[in-house]
Amino acid sequence: MTFSIHGLAVSRGVAIGRAVMVASSRMDVAHYFIQAHEVSAEIERARAGRDAVVEELYRLQESISHMGPKEAPHELNALLDVHLMLLQDEELVSGVKSWITDRLYNAEWALTTQLEVISRHFDEMEDAYLRERKADMEQIVERVLRAMRGVASPIVTPSHRNTRRQSQQDLLLGDTVDVPLVLVAHDLSPADMLQFKQSVFAGFITDVGGKTSHTAIVARSMDIPAVVGARTCSQLVRQDDWIIIDGDAGVVIVDPSPIILAEYGFKKRQVELERSRLARLLNTPAVTMDGEKVQLLANIEMPEDAQAALQAGALGVGLFRSEFLFMGRRGHLPDEEEQFQAYKRAVEGMQGLPVTIRTVDVGADKPLDSSVHDAAHLNPALGLRAIRWSLADPEMFLTQLRAILRAATFGQVHLLVPMLAHASEIHQTLAHIETARSMLDKRGQAYGPVQLGAMIEIPAAALTLKMFLKYFDFLSIGTNDLIQYTLAIDRADESVAHLYDPLHPAVLQLVAATIAECHRQGKGVSVCGEMAGDVGLTRLLLGLGLRSFSMHPAQILAVKQEILRSDTTRLAPWAQRVLESESPALEMAASA
Ligand code: PEP
Ligand code: MG
Repeated sequence: MTFSIHGLAVSRGVAIGRAVMVASSRMDVAHYFIQAHEVSAEIERARAGRDAVVEELYRLQESISHMGPKEAPHELNALLDVHLMLLQDEELVSGVKSWITDRLYNAEWALTTQLEVISRHFDEMEDAYLRERKADMEQIVERVLRAMRGVASPIVTPSHRNTRRQSQQDLLLGDTVDVPLVLVAHDLSPADMLQFKQSVFAGFITDVGGKTSHTAIVARSMDIPAVVGARTCSQLVRQDDWIIIDGDAGVVIVDPSPIILAEYGFKKRQVELERSRLARLLNTPAVTMDGEKVQLLANIEMPEDAQAALQAGALGVGLFRSEFLFMGRRGHLPDEEEQFQAYKRAVEGMQGLPVTIRTVDVGADKPLDSSVHDAAHLNPALGLRAIRWSLADPEMFLTQLRAILRAATFGQVHLLVPMLAHASEIHQTLAHIETARSMLDKRGQAYGPVQLGAMIEIPAAALTLKMFLKYFDFLSIGTNDLIQYTLAIDRADESVAHLYDPLHPAVLQLVAATIAECHRQGKGVSVCGEMAGDVGLTRLLLGLGLRSFSMHPAQILAVKQEILRSDTTRLAPWAQRVLESESPALEMAASA
């Protein structure tokens, strides 16, 4: 039966494929397809992992048999029996085998997929005791996955041969060999998204998350259709359901009828056509009709993204979110050398164009490790994040600063500091930069000049611009956080997503004041929040005087198209009217 689920549109386009249910905690297993001739070896690998755990549990039973009831209560032995029994569970064993055989999933993926299927069955059980065995099943699968980490996994190139029985949708799509897969999860952390970047999925849906949550931002950077904030989606969708993701409307259609499927197939082709049409603008300079030059820069998460930035025609990197190098590493932060190499790769990758490296911004919805939940702090977005975290750990901060300064010998580097609000934070930051330089001097190690920038993300910063401009060469407006903190709306919380409004007069006034003050003082200013990549806001930002936009590479050409059609002499007075209006969105719609 066809039904639809409404969420938030976060990344454009249409994806049509089979649902793969994944729990966030299990995203860090590899997801890839094996070749048909590797099936038996892969089943063997899964079996070896399971056998290793069986042995481990027997050994444990043996050792506790020598202990007294105080050290090893009777229940412990019974629990190990339950785990041993679950390891032989027919549903688990045969399920894993068929995900490998029929779908060519790698063993880890097959295990976590089957765990999702079994977990559903446990959830539906009436008997409370049996329901609780779900946790045991999860534990033994985690154990098997751990055991398998020791077993080398074959290196394969992603390919997908699907030998399942054909459904009506399979026949309609006319291709049972390469069926795309869409990932459905309750939640995905930004670190999960890094795994996702290297995986095989054509789109994703999460129950939670706001439009500018970092998960949504990474989805946009990957340019794949995505819907977040879909509430109960992961409970309503079942493994293998056919799904359509309409990333423009924020709608998920489950089990679509042939007519709907045909309609979306058409829409998908239209989107692809529009993309190839935009590609013709690649080498066209971003200049308005009245001759104003606009700088289009890229936001990147990893050094390797520099390639996509160049391919999209970016004139530099306006925001390298360096924290993605720090996340999902189970507490082992990258050392100076590793960071230096990463920054150097990004700088060299940009071939002489400027690269703005933002110092680490972890915390809030970007925890270092997604499996570690921060229950101690009730408002993590207002807590120890970004520069506050860096200043709380000077050794870590100095390590990063040295690595950035050293990378600056290989090209133009701008150093950007997130979430500053206080004069004392500015002074401490500058002092740390000086310390990092003198440490490198002492070592006799080369470093290059950097332009220093501050992000304007907190209203307090936007209201003390003169102080900021005394110390910094340029400002970059982080509208995602500026909106969050001006309107007191958690950007990652879908329940208040309707109040997250880039066009709120207060937000616009802070943005406009920042641009104007930088112009007055002849300092550089750009917007690197999601507003910069929103084509619906391009004209307004141009009208407010903005000439430097930083966004995900995938958005650059569409924004360029808007710029080419704009005349700033007409946009400036119009933008002032919008700025002074009580309802800027209505004013914009009325005078568009
Ligand atoms: C912002 O806040 O607008 C920004 C660009 O930083 P981030 O999204 O990484 O918090
Ligand atoms: Mg921010």
